[in-house]
Amino acid sequence: MNIANWLYSAAMTAPGSPALLSGNDLRGNYLQFSQHASAIGHNLQHDYKVEPGTRVAFLMKNRIEYLIALYAVWWVGGVTVPINNRLHAKEAAWIIENSEASVLFTDAGPDSQGLSLPDSCTQIRVDTDIFDAMEDGGPELSPPLPREMDALAWLFYTSGTTGRPKGVMLTHGNLVAMSLSYTMDVDDVTSQDAFLYAAPISHGAGLYNFVHVRKGARHVIPASRGFEPAEILDLAEQHDRLSLFAAPTMVKRLVDEAKASTRDGRGIKSVIYGGGPMYLADLEDALDVLGPKFIQIYGQGESPMTITSIGREELEDRSHLKWRERAASVGTAMSCVEVRVVDASMNDLPSGTPGEVIVRGQTVMKGYWRNEKATRETLAEGWLKTGDIGYLNADGYLTLTDRSKDVIISGGSNIYPREVEEVLMRHGAILEAAVVGRPSDKWGEEVVAFVVIRTGESCDVETLEAWCKSEIASFKKPKHYEFCEALPKNSYGKILKTELRAQLKHPAG
Ligand code: AMP
Repeated sequence: MNIANWLYSAAMTAPGSPALLSGNDLRGNYLQFSQHASAIGHNLQHDYKVEPGTRVAFLMKNRIEYLIALYAVWWVGGVTVPINNRLHAKEAAWIIENSEASVLFTDAGPDSQGLSLPDSCTQIRVDTDIFDAMEDGGPELSPPLPREMDALAWLFYTSGTTGRPKGVMLTHGNLVAMSLSYTMDVDDVTSQDAFLYAAPISHGAGLYNFVHVRKGARHVIPASRGFEPAEILDLAEQHDRLSLFAAPTMVKRLVDEAKASTRDGRGIKSVIYGGGPMYLADLEDALDVLGPKFIQIYGQGESPMTITSIGREELEDRSHLKWRERAASVGTAMSCVEVRVVDASMNDLPSGTPGEVIVRGQTVMKGYWRNEKATRETLAEGWLKTGDIGYLNADGYLTLTDRSKDVIISGGSNIYPREVEEVLMRHGAILEAAVVGRPSDKWGEEVVAFVVIRTGESCDVETLEAWCKSEIASFKKPKHYEFCEALPKNSYGKILKTELRAQLKHPAG
């Protein structure tokens, strides 16, 4: 089944229902949304040779046309490759090349500037006459091209543990299963609801579109096209029944803004949070200020939005004896998956004993795009090895304790130390580099780099900042540098990151 059938069906059953809003401006009902997607899809097919399986990349901030163009690609059986618009141009270009995308949708924003595209990829700007003509120039509205459930729909690029991002292959069936379990485990959705795309469509927030399209709800893109707490509170008051996804650091900013402007989040229906750990004190604060609007999910690109969840009622009931333990966990397995905690030989561990979290179910990815080695390492015996460490308690609640993949989560974005270390190591003056996360009130964690300068060379913070700026996305750049004589190592020469983290907590002298 083609996931775009859901849009076609909404256009047939409720053509006049409001669908797309930019801030407070209604920009299209379900019939128009569907007609535009179908028309652009046909244009992609005829003028740009987009066929079933062809990859089409996206690099821009959230906007209405983003949603329309995504559906256009699915309409004709293509595969979308949404790219994080905060990546460096070199990183984005690598993804375009790796996915062999033949079309790239962008706008006039800075994201695609300085991007060198391969000859095989054509850029289409969604803020030009060309796109307008594509929107209107198709034949009569016709249904999406039929697709098998295991056909590829979305290549979801995650940061790589080995320095390069990996393309998670999500099928139409994965996206259907993910959306069905949303209504079972996360929230009910009706045609009266609205979803706010305050987090990037290329990542978490984009995945929420499906269930809201299926139910004929409204899709609201904030005028700022990003996460602005005051704007969100305003929009909620105007639109009512507004739900959004927010990383824990964003929840904190939203709550702080509500407190500062003495507002209570009127109009917000649900805040779905996840992507990184939420401190209990912050959750309690959020419940006090905004009320019972919170639902937590734990997932990853490889099983999107669907590993465990903990719902509104449970989080609200602070008189429950087990509230603290449960609220600090990531909840219980969602309906479409099985979750286990295992040792290195894939044996189940007793409750309370930490091990690797593994997942099996219909939401689990097909594998990594053209990366059999990584696929073999991650999908073992039919189970997805998440790289997250945690334990299950006797009631089936999962608590995450650590990450085996060494990832730093800053402002809800994953940063793999290896990626930053490789950039630093490419600088001629650096002999050794190690990158770790340090707790930060504002970002959850922030990147700190320990560097050893080669004998006879000299290098300062400004030089390293300029170097990183030329090589990687701004959010991945170290916020702080520690220059040292040598890095602490074990007898095998492995850098002891735990020691580096301890040094940050207790600086010498
Ligand atoms: P991504 O693939 O970018 O969505 O990142 C997924 C990773 O974020 C997971 O493997 C976890 O390490 C982390 N994560 C996701 N949700 C949660 C959560 N609710 N609590 C703590 N960590 C989370």
